[in-house]
Amino acid sequence: MLRPLSLRLQLTLALMLTGLAVVVTVGGVAYLELQRKFSSQAAQQATAHFRAGVASYLQEFGSFESGKARGVGLGDYLARLRGPDAKGAGPASSDGPPRPWDVRRGPPPGHSGEPRPGPGPQPWPAPDGRDDPGRRPGPPPDGPPPAGPGARPPFRFILTDANYRVLLGAGSYPQGEALPEAQRALAEAVRVDGEIRAYVSTEGVLSPGQDDLAYLAAMRQALLVGAIAATVLAALLGLLLGSGLSARLRRLTQAVRRMHAGELLQRVDARGSAEIEALALAFNHMSEALARSDAELRASHATISSQALQLKELSIRDALTGLYNRRHFDESVRQLFEDSRRHGQDLTLVLADIDWFKRINDQYSHAVGDEVLRRVAALLERQLGGARLLARYGGEEFVMALPQTPLHEAADVCERLRASVAAEDWGQLAPRLQVSLSMGLAADPAAASAAALLEQADAQLYRAKDAGRNRVCHA
Ligand code: GH3
Ligand code: MG
Ligand code: MG
Repeated sequence: MLRPLSLRLQLTLALMLTGLAVVVTVGGVAYLELQRKFSSQAAQQATAHFRAGVASYLQEFGSFESGKARGVGLGDYLARLRGPDAKGAGPASSDGPPRPWDVRRGPPPGHSGEPRPGPGPQPWPAPDGRDDPGRRPGPPPDGPPPAGPGARPPFRFILTDANYRVLLGAGSYPQGEALPEAQRALAEAVRVDGEIRAYVSTEGVLSPGQDDLAYLAAMRQALLVGAIAATVLAALLGLLLGSGLSARLRRLTQAVRRMHAGELLQRVDARGSAEIEALALAFNHMSEALARSDAELRASHATISSQALQLKELSIRDALTGLYNRRHFDESVRQLFEDSRRHGQDLTLVLADIDWFKRINDQYSHAVGDEVLRRVAALLERQLGGARLLARYGGEEFVMALPQTPLHEAADVCERLRASVAAEDWGQLAPRLQVSLSMGLAADPAAASAAALLEQADAQLYRAKDAGRNRVCHA
């Protein structure tokens, strides 16, 4: 698949094509217009010269007939006006005697028809030698204009007398007949001493002369140079503008990439074209808003996370004593039980119950009962150490799991705990207050589950109660 063109290249190409199109259009139109102008000027001038020649002929001889009677046909006369230097001057007369259509001279002195300024004189077009009124009815003096390569396009004069009777028909109108009305409208009068003596009109197109052609060739050359210069200039401009534009867009793209990578706060230079500026400003605003939202989101995420942690902690803790609650113990002890079984390690479970706690509540108040619960919990936690699991199992009961601890070792630990509770200075909390613990232990390796082991411990606790309380019992 083709890769899309870069912005810089697109801009350069667009400018190049635009420059080229402008140069070609303006230059081409100017060239064609100039060519047309040259043609029309050449035709006008040739007509003026011919008209002046005819006027001069008529003035000199009075009429075509008397001119002919004196042996000077119009064609010869015009050729004479042209002079011997014109021989072979034009492409149509490069050989043979001078021909009337090659006459390059301006009109004789004293007659109208200014020589055309600008790119050189034009050959007088052929008044169609076949119809030379000065020679009629004999054969044409010079023959028709040459045809073939290098020949002028057909451009011939139609000459009539003052009554529009055709003297030279340019091959289109029979000699001696009246010129059609439509053609009369185009005919120009030839006046001699203010009197209309003849009419002249033209037929065909006259192409530019040598000088005009050279001028047009120079213009073509200039057009080519102009087109090349415009293309090069457009390419340079395109590269210059394009690189500026694409550099700004590249900065924007890079900023977007950095945003994508996580650096939300970006700031790009907003200078440039109106669109780029608007884009950059919108981007900067968006980046700031995003970064702000992200910061707020992170802050609230942190709050939520810490709240979730607190909630989780609260959900596994007992509110009064701060120890783990029964639910957490039940979940954790299952894992401890499975681990100890998998590794063939000892696990002792302990249930501890405060003796005669109802009485404490009754005798000293619930508040004192609560404080007793808190102090026993703190004492157990302090003495048991981190590797053991301790929880308030409910009411005034506590539960402990001692991993990798054989029964006799656990019994020693519990005995120390029991003794500590009993030895505590409870009188400080309430006069004559006595607090003791009864404890039941179980470490049966054959127990099917943590719950079964816990039931065994509960049975041992009952034994301790039955045996008089404030003691540790195990199987
Ligand atoms: P025993 O030696 O047989 O265990 O007798 P006991 O009185 O300790 O046992 P019993 O089950 O008859 O009484 C437990 C009492 O614990 C009853 C209840 O009101 C009290 N109790 C349970 N939870 C709390 C508590 O959170 N705070 C207080 N102050 N008392 C509680
Ligand atoms: Mg109890
Ligand atoms: Mg009790």
